[in-house]
Formats: sequence, C-alpha cells, structure tokens
Amino acid sequence: MFDLTTRDIKFLSGVGPQRAAVLNKELGISSLHDLLYYFPYKYVDRSRIYAIREIDGSMPYIQLKGEILGTELAGEGRGRRLVAHFSDGTGVVDLVWFQGIKYVVGKYKVHKEYIVFGKPTVFNGRFNIAHPDVEEVNDLKLTPGGLQPYYNTTERMKRGFLNSRAIERMMSVLLSQVDGPLPETLSPAILAEHHLMPLTDALRNIHFPANADLLRKAQYRLKFEELFYVQLNILRYAQDRQRRYRGYVFGKVGGIFNTFYSEHLPFELTNAQKRVLKEIRRDLGSGRQMNRLLQGDVGSGKTLVALMSMLIALDNGFQACLMAPTEILANQHYETICRFVEGMDVRVELLTGSVKGKRREAILAGLLSGDVHILVGTHALIEDTVNFASLGLAVIDEQHRFGVKQRSRLWTKNDQPPHVLVMTATPIPRTLAMTLYGDLDVSVIDELPPGRKPIVTIHQFDSHRESLYRSMRKQIDEGRQVYIVYPLIKESEKTDLKNVEEGYERICAAFPDCVVCKVHGRMKPAEKDGQMQRFVSGEAQIMVATTVIEVGVNVPNASVMVIENAERFGLSQLHQLRGRVGRGADQSYCILVTGYKLAEDTRKRLEIMVRTNDGFEIAEADLKLRGPGDLEGTQQSGVAFDLKIADIARDGQLLQHVREVAQKVIEEDPDGTAPENVVLWRQLKALRKTNVNWAAIS
Ligand code: ADP
Ligand code: MG
Repeated sequence: MFDLTTRDIKFLSGVGPQRAAVLNKELGISSLHDLLYYFPYKYVDRSRIYAIREIDGSMPYIQLKGEILGTELAGEGRGRRLVAHFSDGTGVVDLVWFQGIKYVVGKYKVHKEYIVFGKPTVFNGRFNIAHPDVEEVNDLKLTPGGLQPYYNTTERMKRGFLNSRAIERMMSVLLSQVDGPLPETLSPAILAEHHLMPLTDALRNIHFPANADLLRKAQYRLKFEELFYVQLNILRYAQDRQRRYRGYVFGKVGGIFNTFYSEHLPFELTNAQKRVLKEIRRDLGSGRQMNRLLQGDVGSGKTLVALMSMLIALDNGFQACLMAPTEILANQHYETICRFVEGMDVRVELLTGSVKGKRREAILAGLLSGDVHILVGTHALIEDTVNFASLGLAVIDEQHRFGVKQRSRLWTKNDQPPHVLVMTATPIPRTLAMTLYGDLDVSVIDELPPGRKPIVTIHQFDSHRESLYRSMRKQIDEGRQVYIVYPLIKESEKTDLKNVEEGYERICAAFPDCVVCKVHGRMKPAEKDGQMQRFVSGEAQIMVATTVIEVGVNVPNASVMVIENAERFGLSQLHQLRGRVGRGADQSYCILVTGYKLAEDTRKRLEIMVRTNDGFEIAEADLKLRGPGDLEGTQQSGVAFDLKIADIARDGQLLQHVREVAQKVIEEDPDGTAPENVVLWRQLKALRKTNVNWAAIS
C-alpha cells in the first residue's frame, strides 16, 4: 500500500488541487495521514428522529424533522437574535441564531421540511436550540446503530462547500483505500498490557463507529497513545537535560542578599514567599540547572521573590536578568527593582527596543565586563548583540507571552545554561502544568500580602447603566481611576472594534469632565504605549480598552474594573482582568456587565467570579467548564499542546496513568535500545520531527 504520510491529499478522489489548498491553509492538512488524523468533534445518533413532544431539558444532540412556521427578530444590540418557530405537529421549539442572521434568513424557507439538529435547552419555559444544524430532508440517512461523525470546518471552507459532510465523504473514500493494517505505533507489549485496540481499527472506528462501545474503545486507544507520547517526550527530554546540563552552584547566600533582607526590605515576607524562596535556594545550590515555574496570583509578590533570587546569583559572582513581555512591564519592573535596591552597590539597567545609541552601547559594554549586575528588559534581551560576562539566573515574567523558542534562546547566552525562573500569574492546575511543562518544578505563592482588601465583584445587567455610572462617578470623585474593558475576539474584530469606539464615545459623553484614554489592538505599539502611559501617570481617570491592556500592569490607584460583555470572557481571563485592581489599600470593585439572556455555563462562570477571589479555585473551575484548549495561556504559548483527541480536563486520570507507563519505559530502557521498544522510539522521533513544538520544548 502507498505511504499515507507522503501521499498528498490532492490525489484523493474528490479532492483535487483547489480543495487540497483550502484544506492545507485552513486545517493544516496536506497528506492523507493528516486527514486520517483529523478527528470528528462529535457524533450524532442518526438512528432515529425525535418528536418535539418527547423533548426534555436534559437531552444530548438530537434530530428533529419539521418545518419553520415563521421567524422573528428579537432583542437589541448584542442580544439581537433571529428566532424561528419550528414544529413537527407534536409541539414547537425555537431555533435561535445570534450570529449570521442575514445568512440564515436567506437560506431557510418557511413551510419547507428540514432536519434540525442540536441540543435543546429551556429558556423562559420554552424549548430552544441555539445555532442548530439545519439540513434538507433528502440529506437524511438513518443509520441504524451507527453514529455519524461531525468535523469542525471553518467559514472559508463552508463557503467552498467543504463542510463536515464533504470531509466525511473524503474520509470514507480514504478508509476504503486502506486495504491492509497500518503500521502499529505502539509496542505489542503496551497494546497487550493495556488492552488497547489496534491502530487501524481505532482509526476506522473513530471516524465511523459501528456502535458506541467501539467508539469508546477507539477513543481510549487514541487518547492513550497521544498522551503517552507527550509524556514520553517530556520524560525522555528531561532526562537528557539532567544528564547534559549541570547547573551553576550558588553555594552561598552572602552580603548582598543579607543586606537587602535586613536593611532594605520594607516589609515582612509572607510565609508563602519565604517557602518559595527556600525552594529556589535549594535548587540553586543543588548543582542541577533550575527550571522552575513560579505561580502566584496577581499581587502576590512574585517580583520580590524574583529579585531576591537574583541577589543570590549576585552573591555568587553571577549576573541576572528579568525579561518581561512588554515595554511598559519592563519599565515597571525596572523602577520597582531600582527602588528596592536603592543605596546598595547593585547596578541595574533597562534594555528595551527604545534604548538606542550610546546608552545601549554603554549597557552592552557593562554587561560584557560584568559591571551591570541586573538587566531588566523585553525581547531585546535575547538579541544576539546582548552578551553577558556570566549570566547565572534568568527570570521570565508572564511566561505565556513568550514562546518556547524565545525561552530557550536565553540558554545560549552562556556555555552553560543559566538557572531559569518563570513567573506566571495565570494559575495552571497541576495536571496541566505537568503536561505542559513536564520537567518544570512548580512553586506556588498562595497567599497575598497582608492588608489587601478582597475585591468586591458584582454582576450587573447592561440595562442598569445609570447605576453603573453613579458608582464609577463616586470612585472618580474620590480620586480613583477606572478601567472599562471590552472583549476582542478575532473572528468579529470589526464589530468588536465598533463596540470599543462606541463605548469610548458613550463614556466621554457621560463623563465630560474626565480625561478618558483608549487602547485597542489595532493601534500602533507607540500609540498604545502613549495611551497607557496617560493612565499610568494618572492624567486620565478612565481607560477604555480591549483585552490588550497589559497583563501585569500596576496602577495601584485604579479601583474599578468594569468588564463589558463579560459573558464573552473565559474565567481565567476575567480573573486576570480583575487583578488589575485591588493593588492599593483602598476597596476595589470589579463589575461584570452582561445582557439578560445567559447560557448555563456563563451563569456559572459569573457566579464563581462573584463568589471567590482565589485564582486556583477559579483555574480548576475553568478547566472543568471549558477544557484546557481554551485555558488562558495555553493557546498562544507555542507549547506542545496541540492535542487532537485527549482532553486534559476530562482525561486527567488517563494522563496520570500513561505518565506512569512512560516512566516505566524510560526506567527499563534508559538508553532506548531495547528491541521491544523500537517502535516507541521510532514513533517518538517521527513525532518530534513533525511537531516543531515538541522538539523545542525545554
Ligand atoms: P505580582 O507580580 O505577583 O502580581 P508584585 O510583585 O507586583 O505582585 O507585588 C504586588 C505589590 O505587593 C507590590 O507593590 C509589592 O511591593 C507588594 N508586596 C510584595 N510582597 C509583599 C509583602 N510581603 N508584604 C507587603 N507588600 C508586599
Ligand atoms: Mg507581576
């Protein structure tokens, strides 16, 4: 049989060069192998049609057959929706569309018979199905016992008639051409020991399951394999690293650290800070290169821990650097650190894109001679022209803004990689941290400095604007500042931008005596920084922004965070945004503004936000509600996280299990030479070649 991996998708009958180009561009599918591993996101029981009178609130996806009696437009603004009353003679359900209304109106006709598909929910005592799939009746095929696969497609694909059905047909052609078993990707021992379905059967059943039981077995096998190789990769790589990279030994805590601790530290460390510092000190003295993730909620005092770790490096004759994702953050860190070490013999410099000419040369020279002890900066730090005399510790703030590649470039600044401390305010649940970072050790600051007043969070409907403005006014009159944030989601960037602009004008009109600044993603960086600066300096009382407002920006005088369309944000994001306030001694508020109609999930999210300020509780809840693919920080991170079938939220137990399986393989076959594991190492090698992220993970 031909090799699936090298066979171009365009040669599959029914595809051709044009569709192949679209598949490639939209889904990254270029070979038959890629197509085969493009799994359905759901399956629908096409074995029967339900009657509307049978519907109750707890059904999965079901299939109805009937006609649209009439349509109406309801709601206003963002709540605007198209409602189609759909009946099969036994009852009526409302089909509801919030988006693509024009398209829907043109497409479906009244009193024509359709098959409708979706998950019914109850709202105001009526059943409705939001954004259902609607199909012509002649597309209907009842497959007794069989489950029909549904594949994700993009808007662009749908326009080119490459919908789920088209992919289903391609898959069916492809599978009919697979005549023998495909090369197995797990070892016989593992297959037997864990009762896994052979690969070829699993692939057939993942696309066209003959029944629910076979589907489950296929899913289990493929999830097992996927998570297993992620873990094998991490464990194998971690082991390599430990062998290869010794760490600098920072044996002593000396004069610089001690002077700072006893004479410069303006407050007592929290117990959590003390504990984490101990963990870090132990690493730094161990002779192993430290690779530690420092998690702590916003405002928990990570920067101070980072600084004190850097002082240990200095005490041992090394330099340290701190890299932040944006210029503003780098500036803030620089100022904070300068203030902390004022009067000490420690030279701190700031290096960003805007430091140029003589100033830059002086800093670079100082780094080479060792005169500069601590360098704070942006990406500018990893440029080739930046060289240290002896970089001992690199601290990276707000990790998720940096890709893995950038992180690893820091390593090449020395013959031996420096110790690395990664700080993040996005709490990552343990299971996820393990998969994402594998060999990173994790420290947690789970306590806020004393004296902080917990932020009061309120959920408000957007019809209550008057009272919202009154509360804002009160705070502004007391000299405080206010953030107003709008969502920005890529697909509908234009309308989102319109929301921000309209919001901005509305606020200017409602607060004519205030200075209002505005920040959004379409602005040039310099313009954005300029606007931010107006808020940071206190010149502007109100900032209207999309979520581009900087992670980690510290304006202690800001006491109100208004989040518009809060229903469109994920939990972690809401929590991050809320963390922009509550940094001073005053009572702060977070106001979540939404429309009336809320999905069950959304209601839960808002409830959690109102109930707790605990970032970890929120992260766990988020993981449960949304799954990790959406988890803030995992998407843009460039980390090995393109899971095709496994789901960290739901498959946590399996993850734990396969980690042990992978661990055992590594222990029994440390050199990767045992004949029974040939297939495993070969597969891992192949995966590392095709998955750039895997190869780069550190
Ligand atoms: P994070 O980076 O974790 O969001 P920061 O390091 O910016 O938090 O700390 C927030 C504020 O709390 C800073 O003003 C910092 O000086 C202050 N802070 C840090 N540790 C303590 C402490 N132990 N006691 C009192 N204030 C602290
Ligand atoms: Mg910070």
